[in-house]
Amino acid sequence: MTPYVLVVEDEDALATLLHYNLEKEGYRVSLAADGEEALTQIDEQLPDLIVLDWMLPKVSGIEVCRRLRGRAETRNVPIIMLTARGEETDRIRGLDTGADDYIVKPFSMVELTARIRAVLRRIRPGLAEDRTRQGDLTIDRVSHRVKREGREIHLGPTEFRLLDYFMQHPGRVFSREQLLDAVWGSDVYVEARTVDVHVGRLRKALNLDTEIDPIRTVRSAGYALDVDS
Ligand code: CA
Repeated sequence: MTPYVLVVEDEDALATLLHYNLEKEGYRVSLAADGEEALTQIDEQLPDLIVLDWMLPKVSGIEVCRRLRGRAETRNVPIIMLTARGEETDRIRGLDTGADDYIVKPFSMVELTARIRAVLRRIRPGLAEDRTRQGDLTIDRVSHRVKREGREIHLGPTEFRLLDYFMQHPGRVFSREQLLDAVWGSDVYVEARTVDVHVGRLRKALNLDTEIDPIRTVRSAGYALDVDS
């Protein structure tokens, strides 16, 4: 599963450079040029990590950070702050903004991508590792194999990506639209009903005998993966 990184930066040249380099590193990247746009985009789809500039038009980076930390849905999103030398560095250094890490401009892309990998590894091990285990489910992203209670489960490519996404966020409820964006991509036109079809196939494949169904349907909200950890 490709980690989704939101870059919030008002300097066009730097935003373009970050976009290019992070895509090259294998991330899916979206850009926001001010704090307000960032908050709107985060509402639409929760990023796996946010690279957030400190000084931004409309809503500042610090304020964006504060608001995200104040809401249950966004409290745990990893944030790396970008700051120019001399911009209240002491406050950021103390990380009392709630950011997970910070980096002082100018910085090299090698430095930034190393920080991103480190933060993702620490906070979302599922994103950085080839293999994830949740309850009795194991997914191996290299060999593309899925096992439940040690028994191999055969999935189509879409069901595999769906399960991969669920396993990175166990217990969280996703709407059909959120699953479409995450699994099919936001630039593809697919009907919301398609999600039901693939969740149905995934569910059927996972439920070998009379085991407990790990996929929970939440009426008028969407789906979640529930596992005992
Ligand atoms: Ca700025």
